[in-house]
Amino acid sequence: MSLFKTIQRVVVRQRLRQSKIPLRLWHRTIANMPMVQRYTAQERLQLRLLAGEVLRLKQIVPVQGMVLTDEIRVTLATQAAMVVFGLESVNQFSALDWLRNWNHIIVYPTPFRNGRENLLSPNGLVMSQSAFQSGETSHQGGIIIDWQDDAPHPLRAHANQVFMHEMAHKLDMLDGNTNGHPPLHATMKESDWFSAFEVAFETLQLQINYGQSPAINPYAATNAAEFFAVSTEYFFESPEHLKRVFPDVYRQLCLFYKQDFAKN
Ligand SMILES: [Zn+2]
Repeated sequence: MSLFKTIQRVVVRQRLRQSKIPLRLWHRTIANMPMVQRYTAQERLQLRLLAGEVLRLKQIVPVQGMVLTDEIRVTLATQAAMVVFGLESVNQFSALDWLRNWNHIIVYPTPFRNGRENLLSPNGLVMSQSAFQSGETSHQGGIIIDWQDDAPHPLRAHANQVFMHEMAHKLDMLDGNTNGHPPLHATMKESDWFSAFEVAFETLQLQINYGQSPAINPYAATNAAEFFAVSTEYFFESPEHLKRVFPDVYRQLCLFYKQDFAKN
């Protein structure tokens, strides 16, 4: 083994020791996270390390009676780690650099009021009722989620990953705009990204307008930013489904997240 590799291994071992996730807690937590089972044993070791770093750097704030257990903290950190797992050393950024525009996660026990009392409806009327929602984020703020919707569940064809959805918005915001276009890697083509997402977005809108069953959660048809966030949920929870219904979007997300889970 080269000296460089030996040093690398020592550094990894040291960081693992400092990681705040004890081995038993880690195993107990990931036993309930089917998405983690897609990673090899070696990758899970890196995932644990990354999740420990997330816990060290980000604050998890329980509100409205939310009881935060160690398992919940590790689950959230692991969800974050999965999103940026492939992004180590991309564009000279470490995986953690991709999380640089948020510092805390606020966790509600159940869906929360969004606080926007006056919303414009599509036909221009002001709706005075505030809505309940599962996740929210903004350019300046952290990420807000409700645990009831984010807790791990058996994998479904129609994905539901609240925290990953909000993380996708944060990645999208890294270049200053929330438009469904995160900063792409130098190896990716802007035109391929836009054409894949535009065609899929229009297809979904047509399916909804013509009363057909939508290929993915119709909330994705809200705008390009929501399409990217919702397709990110599918990419991690239901990659085979996303690859089947929108193969070009799946391909672009593989290139962006640098991960590929679909078996065929
Ligand atoms: Zn959203």
